[in-house]
Amino acid sequence: MSAKAAPAAETLKAITHLAAALKAPRISQAAARLAEHARAAGWTHEDYLAAILEREVAARNASGAQLRIRAAGFPAVKTLEDFDFDQQPAARTPVQALASGGWLAEHRNIVLLGPPGTGKTHLATALGVTAARQGHRVLFATATEWVARLGEAHDRGRLPAELTRLRRYGLVIVDEVGYLPFEQDAANLFFQLVSSRYEHASLVLTSNLPFSSWAGVFGDQVVAAAMIDRIVHHADVITLKGASYRLRDRGIDTLPSIKAEQGSID
Ligand code: ADP
Ligand code: MG
Repeated sequence: MSAKAAPAAETLKAITHLAAALKAPRISQAAARLAEHARAAGWTHEDYLAAILEREVAARNASGAQLRIRAAGFPAVKTLEDFDFDQQPAARTPVQALASGGWLAEHRNIVLLGPPGTGKTHLATALGVTAARQGHRVLFATATEWVARLGEAHDRGRLPAELTRLRRYGLVIVDEVGYLPFEQDAANLFFQLVSSRYEHASLVLTSNLPFSSWAGVFGDQVVAAAMIDRIVHHADVITLKGASYRLRDRGIDTLPSIKAEQGSID
């Protein structure tokens, strides 16, 4: 038996009270749980304090990440670990280089291009989940949804305020650019989103169309060119290829329409 006595009941009560005052009730749980172990293992006071604080910080980071992932509005949570890079071997190295999150600190963008079902939404989400785990606030929506949100803000005279608010998000994900062509007003709203984030905060965009077809989406060669210029200036463009993962093993990946879409992106 060690010479050090077990703490008095008042000390334990004081720890509970103080941890509650710090809004860190886990500290009192960890303090009690680790105390016996610390005494038995002969930890220093500093070892013990560090072990308790480490647990509190880890728990806060994990719950912060969970909150950010839930708040992001992903259609389904997907991760880089879930992605089978054997299906997209050319994407392995560029995507894995992004996992460290340095691109977010540099306010760089990522553009994922490819035919339907090749994993664009999956990878966009997975990069968003990674960003959320690294402490960034993230928002995910389709291009059509973004334009609707910005249009609403515009109608209330709050577009500049909304764009400023969005800049507090380290990452905005715009899925499905090009599935629906934009009216002139929508194209202008989208352009404002891209301009407002340029060199301030990151965008991830996905599209089934190559850049050469974006003029058709935005209805205007000049707007499309100005937009692509800002997006691509500091961006990694990753092109996914092949047949739809959704249709794999179903013997229907040779439909002429799917072949045509693959052709459009190469
Ligand atoms: P896209 O957005 O390009 O149309 P998705 O990302 O929605 O395609 O992918 C379609 C489905 O197939 C999703 O459920 C996704 O998780 C899955 N998927 C696609 N590619 C892969 C892959 N390489 N590894 C694991 N799952 C994949
Ligand atoms: Mg998709």
